[in-house]
Amino acid sequence: MSPAPDPAHEPAPAARSRRLLVTTLLAALAAWLALALWPRAGGEAAGPAGPPPSEEQAAAAEPAAAPAPEPAARPLPACVYGDEPAPRAALDDWAYTLLDTRFRLGADYAPTDLVSLPEALAAAVPDADGALAAAGHELRSVAVPALQALFADAEAAGVRLAVQSAYRSYAYQERTFAYWVEVDGYDVALRTSARPGHSEHQLGTAVDLRSRFGPPAWDLDDWAATPEGAWVAANAWRYGFVMSYPRGAEHESCYAYEPWHYRYVGRELAAAVQGANETPRAVLWRLAEEHREP
Ligand SMILES: [Zn+2]
Repeated sequence: MSPAPDPAHEPAPAARSRRLLVTTLLAALAAWLALALWPRAGGEAAGPAGPPPSEEQAAAAEPAAAPAPEPAARPLPACVYGDEPAPRAALDDWAYTLLDTRFRLGADYAPTDLVSLPEALAAAVPDADGALAAAGHELRSVAVPALQALFADAEAAGVRLAVQSAYRSYAYQERTFAYWVEVDGYDVALRTSARPGHSEHQLGTAVDLRSRFGPPAWDLDDWAATPEGAWVAANAWRYGFVMSYPRGAEHESCYAYEPWHYRYVGRELAAAVQGANETPRAVLWRLAEEHREP
């Protein structure tokens, strides 16, 4: 409650006009100070002498503004089982083709530029006496120079690698999946082996690696804990290869950890995956969404 105004304290007219003058002067001083200080507080470009900021400039200067969400982009889908055509499945889109438990290649998807790996790798590592890849193993020519460089540099670092598996046709995948169902049962095979058309090996750009003098990498607890597996895990991206199914990312990659399975995506994309600290599937999904017709 405020007390009622006391008429005895009402100022005389002269005092009132003096107070009005002081108030006016103070207001003018405050306005001058505000104008004098504003450019420094608000930045030179936004000073009163310059043109008013455009809407774009104003938006760029707004620090708290979140980027507008892409209206068309859908989040990474859950790892459901399906048989939908893979996004970006043209032969020339090998780096971007997204394969998982839901998306697959057709039975007729077959690269036409496959190169025999025993010869190609023997050229890169001449002293390995043919122990680099078994006869019949092939990879697309787009990925071969990178694999040769990776093998040559590994060899120079004292790291002895070999290819366990490379291109697999649709028909081969049918036989492989049936084999793992036989060994592990359907539910385990579903999680660890790809159903026909769902394997990156059909792209002709994926390889399974192992230590040259060791067993198949999947017979070990963790091939990435061996000197060979650790070297590849640390360096593969420099050659354009990514580990498709990293540890602890099964919910995102849709497959159990496979420290031996590498897919060639080119150096630029491999570096992006390395920097993103995401699974290749998450990165490829985002790129497919950006590429998708609205
Ligand atoms: Zn593999």
